[in-house]
Amino acid sequence: MTDSAPTSRALLTPGPDGPGQPGPAPTPAAAALAEARVTPMLQQYLAIKAQYPDTILFYRMGDFFEMFFEDAETAAQVLGITLTSRSGKDAEVRIPMAGVPCHSASSYLAKLVGAGFRVAICEQTEDPALARGLVRREVVRVVTPGLATEEGILDARQNRYLAALALVERRWGLALADLSTGEFAVAEPAGEAELVDELMRLAPAELLLPDPLPAGMQALAGTVAALLPRLCRTGRPEAAFDPAASREALLAHFRVASLAGFGCEHLRAGLTAAGALLGYLQETQKASLDHLERLAILERDDVLIVDESSRRNLELVQTVVGGKREGSLLEALDGTATPMGARLLRRWLLAPLRQPQAIERRLSAVANLVQEAGRRARLRQALAGVYDLERLNSRVVLGSANGRDLLALGASLAALPALAAELVPLAPGRLPELGQELDPMTDLAALIAASIREEAPATVREGGLIREGYSAELDEIMAMLRDGKRLIAELEAAERSRTGIANLKVGYNRVFGYYLEVTKSQLGQVPADFIRKQTLSTGERFITPDLKAFEAKVLSAQERRLGLEHELFVAIRSQLAAASGRVRQAASLVAELDVYTALAEVASRHRYVRPQVNGGEAIRIREGRHPVIERSLPPGRFVPNDIELDQTAQEVLIVTGPNMAGKSTVLRQTALIVLMAQMGSFVPAAEATIGVVDRIFTRVGAMDDLARGQSTFMVEMSETANILHHATDRSLVILDEIGRGTSTFDGLAIAWAVTEDLATRNGRGVKTIFATHYHELTELALTLPRVKNYTVAIREWNDSIVFLHRLQEGGTSRSYGIQVAALAGVPARVVARAKEILANIEQGELDRWGEPRIAGHRPAPGKPQQLDLFAGLDDPVRSRLQEIQPDRLSPIEALNLLYELKGL
Ligand code: ADP
Ligand code: MG
Repeated sequence: MTDSAPTSRALLTPGPDGPGQPGPAPTPAAAALAEARVTPMLQQYLAIKAQYPDTILFYRMGDFFEMFFEDAETAAQVLGITLTSRSGKDAEVRIPMAGVPCHSASSYLAKLVGAGFRVAICEQTEDPALARGLVRREVVRVVTPGLATEEGILDARQNRYLAALALVERRWGLALADLSTGEFAVAEPAGEAELVDELMRLAPAELLLPDPLPAGMQALAGTVAALLPRLCRTGRPEAAFDPAASREALLAHFRVASLAGFGCEHLRAGLTAAGALLGYLQETQKASLDHLERLAILERDDVLIVDESSRRNLELVQTVVGGKREGSLLEALDGTATPMGARLLRRWLLAPLRQPQAIERRLSAVANLVQEAGRRARLRQALAGVYDLERLNSRVVLGSANGRDLLALGASLAALPALAAELVPLAPGRLPELGQELDPMTDLAALIAASIREEAPATVREGGLIREGYSAELDEIMAMLRDGKRLIAELEAAERSRTGIANLKVGYNRVFGYYLEVTKSQLGQVPADFIRKQTLSTGERFITPDLKAFEAKVLSAQERRLGLEHELFVAIRSQLAAASGRVRQAASLVAELDVYTALAEVASRHRYVRPQVNGGEAIRIREGRHPVIERSLPPGRFVPNDIELDQTAQEVLIVTGPNMAGKSTVLRQTALIVLMAQMGSFVPAAEATIGVVDRIFTRVGAMDDLARGQSTFMVEMSETANILHHATDRSLVILDEIGRGTSTFDGLAIAWAVTEDLATRNGRGVKTIFATHYHELTELALTLPRVKNYTVAIREWNDSIVFLHRLQEGGTSRSYGIQVAALAGVPARVVARAKEILANIEQGELDRWGEPRIAGHRPAPGKPQQLDLFAGLDDPVRSRLQEIQPDRLSPIEALNLLYELKGL
């Protein structure tokens, strides 16, 4: 049995002794093996498949990748390709099979991997023409969701991370790598919640876990499965997570004696995860991993932390409804010109900074480019000529780059000197520094320009790759081949004149090689030395000894040409791979420059200003706008608003106003402006001073959160709990309609208590903006210091209302829900009745002194309420009195205070 058959029929063998199998076997592969009625090729298939049991095996046969058994069934379903089922002569073992042509395999691969499958690519590793018997085959690569480097699978604007998780002595270790860019990092999150949060932020495509799962990981694995349903989880043997072996593997990979140079020698759990990840890469890639050249640490201390629900609520990278990029902050800010710039911008947005100095450095670079419009335009133009340097470089190192990839790399490198030239003359700062650091790499660009043909095809074994003049040996072969064409023409002419057949033609096909074709009407003139090879309906094809001799010469030249071109190409690629560190460095500088340029472009296009970022505690925004909503409205229609938050006069803002007034908008825009400032972007405002915050929390009430489809009140409360546990006096808390998911009184009570807690935390409070339709909460300002009421202005007009979207100081005593209902078309009779009922309810709202009833405290049971003469400074009345600034009290506040003190 030979291997050259183009279909998989060769796999099947007739059974030795007729039919008689009892029904379909549970696993056909096993059954077929057990019966031992398998061809050598099927044996080979099964042996390879056994090494890659949880993958779909692409088994190379001629011009196809074939899949068999369950793989074929799965692939047929996912890819919509035809499932064939072949049987041997006696029909006792039926083998389902399905195949995809090699030349279009990558799109099928992308689909399978996109659907979360792992695919092992098994190639013929020797030339079938030269093989004796069965062609040798090996798995050359395993492609999984976390290992993809194909353009068809990757999103250019997003990193694709592979993650690994380890638990060592009750510490979590998380490692991440992006094989397509060479990033490699570790973290040791402080607990499960933080770990889950990091996973949600980085959204890896695949997660490596020990198999079997240790007891300590089970709860977490459940959470991860629920929150990241599309994440592909890959079990790895426990031995892969051995701390000592992992460390050794890392030392060997980086060729260092200690990991101290990376600053992570002490992260035992993190390194264990990193080692497991590296082992997986080595096992699956069978290629150099030199582009993973350092191990970074993901530090949370330097970063403004935005937890998952806040990220979602603020629509940082996708919208809540529909999960679309359009409508997100990322979309609004992404003016990058290169894929690595787009990825970096996304990372900055998801991890803004906390150190004013580091933020300032970015802001100055942006400011520089905002001022210099001409330079910015030139930079953008040059950047547009830079392709995905990071991923091209990775493909070079992994040995999967083709001629076109090298051309793209060459063109990208050629754009670098122009970039550096624009930057170097600038005033001292990050930009000229960047220009200095940028290696122009003219040597590599020149190598590519001199060697790779501009029309290089996508394949690397079929020639057409190498430029004339690069290799004398190749040029000589090419001359011979060109000469061949002339020889054919001569031979054709000679045979025509010898035979007198005017339309005699020399042709070529893959089966017969060169032939002479004679049409039917001329067959009578064919000489005796023509050897007939094929009969067509229109004529016949012949060969002659001369023609065959010529053919041998041409074919051997052609073969040498293909071999040599491939050899030269691989050598050039290795030469580039050896310089991959330089390319990676350049790629990261280009990414940074691209982000500054993009932020400057967006800033100048949309009139953003440079925020003053400092370590103080005040946030003051004058005429702030919402960066996304602003753009959805006609120019000038968005109403800007001022926000001030500090720790002395107004720290907690209660924003009331009817539905649709613009409460949520002003809250979110405040959070977004702070976040943009801390990532180094200009902000949509007339002026902004931002005292850096350590965390932004947002909690959006159940009503606005139906998309998530969970028990909404429970989610709302657990997120509220998270805020109350983790907010510090440097945090910014945005509460939008909390307490709505339950009954009015419950909700109001919870909202009240939560606000009180935030306002009085550590005697200093937490910067909070709370939008609510519970206008009762405005009374908090009467009883708590630093709580201020704001309302979004409306104009009442003929018993209807007009939204002004303008934030102003003061509370509202009404919710205007009934007016909004009327605007929405609720029938007049129902609206009238609702007004009547509202009036009844409102009568009971204040107690007989006119004090808000719900503000009252009740004595805790068992606590003595009498004044203790010896209580000293702990006396609540005394300490409350000490807090008071009489000058700042309004008469009504003073009166209320008196009541309060009486209550104490
Ligand atoms: P609320 O939370 O008070 O119910 P939203 O903030 O959701 O109101 O705003 C409702 C709509 O009003 C928004 O979708 C937007 O179209 C419009 N809007 C809100 N704020 C402004 C503003 N400052 N300028 C112009 N339009 C606004
Ligand atoms: Mg709202």
